[in-house]
Amino acid sequence: MLHKNRLFTPGPTPLLPAAQTAMASFTAHHRTADFRALFQRVLADMKEFIGTKNDVLVLACSGTGVMEASVSNLTSPGDKVLVLTAGKFGERWTGLAKAFGCHVEVLEVPYGQTFSLDDVRARLNHQVRAVFVQATESSTGARHDIEGIAKIVRAHGDETLLVVDAITGLGTTHLDVDGWGVDVIIGGSQKALMMPPGLAYCAVSERAWKRMDQTLSPRYYFDLRKERKSAAKGETAYTPATSLFAALGAALEFVRGMGNGDLAKGREELVNNAEICAEMTRAGAKALGLKLYAASPAAALTAICAPDGIDSSKIVKEFREGFDAVVANGQGEMKGKLFRIAHIGYYDYLDTIGILGALEHVLAKVTGKSIEYGAAVRAAQEVYARTQSSKQQLVGA
Ligand SMILES: *Cc1c(COP(=O)(O)O)cnc(C)c1O
Repeated sequence: MLHKNRLFTPGPTPLLPAAQTAMASFTAHHRTADFRALFQRVLADMKEFIGTKNDVLVLACSGTGVMEASVSNLTSPGDKVLVLTAGKFGERWTGLAKAFGCHVEVLEVPYGQTFSLDDVRARLNHQVRAVFVQATESSTGARHDIEGIAKIVRAHGDETLLVVDAITGLGTTHLDVDGWGVDVIIGGSQKALMMPPGLAYCAVSERAWKRMDQTLSPRYYFDLRKERKSAAKGETAYTPATSLFAALGAALEFVRGMGNGDLAKGREELVNNAEICAEMTRAGAKALGLKLYAASPAAALTAICAPDGIDSSKIVKEFREGFDAVVANGQGEMKGKLFRIAHIGYYDYLDTIGILGALEHVLAKVTGKSIEYGAAVRAAQEVYARTQSSKQQLVGA
């Protein structure tokens, strides 16, 4: 059969066609009125997309670049920081904070788990200058309780900052950035914004801007204060990734369209979309007797354990060879143990039903056992029907 190449990976994610055409035809120089207008519109829309009144910056780098910027701008060598880690991306925080000479306290829980709020509370004290965490840990598919963690951090007053890597959280998870008091929240273009890699962004609180005037870690390209000053004048400090800004403008218009002209509403719709795709996928996997890897699964992606005695690399390979569908293997020590199906950004009902239909065949092939065809699809259909009928009731009410 004909195969269409489809990404089900937690970044890069499928591209929005309107974003692709916008970038293909974009030629404006960055120091022009045309680009300034696009830039200012995009920064204003990004606040709506993130759901914040804080200043938003968009930089030319991958997500890790802005993770690094948050460490180098907010800490001085020797500062005590607390990293909450439950996977590969949590470990990245530890590596970054160490690279900038921080004294790193680590609250670590096993892969697939999330943190107990009591443990977080117990590890916090007034020496901790910043707490670093993921909203959704893309290596395990776990969702962390950012609201609960933020409450604990904020109870400490202004001396402890909360920095959230929401690179797969934004657009898949309801996050009340300002209401909860998140100081820096970070996202990336190749996730829910349905664009190629190359841009990363953050929203920064007044508390965090103040901290930056006292900190001593070296920074140059990633000096956020410099970038903020330029942004206030409608410009970037250095050459921006101009064509990616054009793509970003188109992606934000698409999200606005999902909210019938209201971008904040569109963002909520995008999150609800991911929630439904994820719930369908979890139900489908369970109907095939598969176990989920994460105890508190995120809507960003579903990490599914390989059946006993089967290497998940075989499952990933079979998806690729049989259907040209790219699903992600486990990372690091998790390689071979699980596979990950993403719901971040440009996924819909048909993608979700399709990947579950393919999963039935993949599983039959790699296990050599007979599968009740339709079991995963049926379970997903039931989830879908239930979510649609509750929506109808809401409309009727
Ligand atoms: C994708 C991702 C990142 C960023 O990775 P880059 O390759 O630097 O863009 C960071 N954290 C999480 C949770 C991610 O999913």
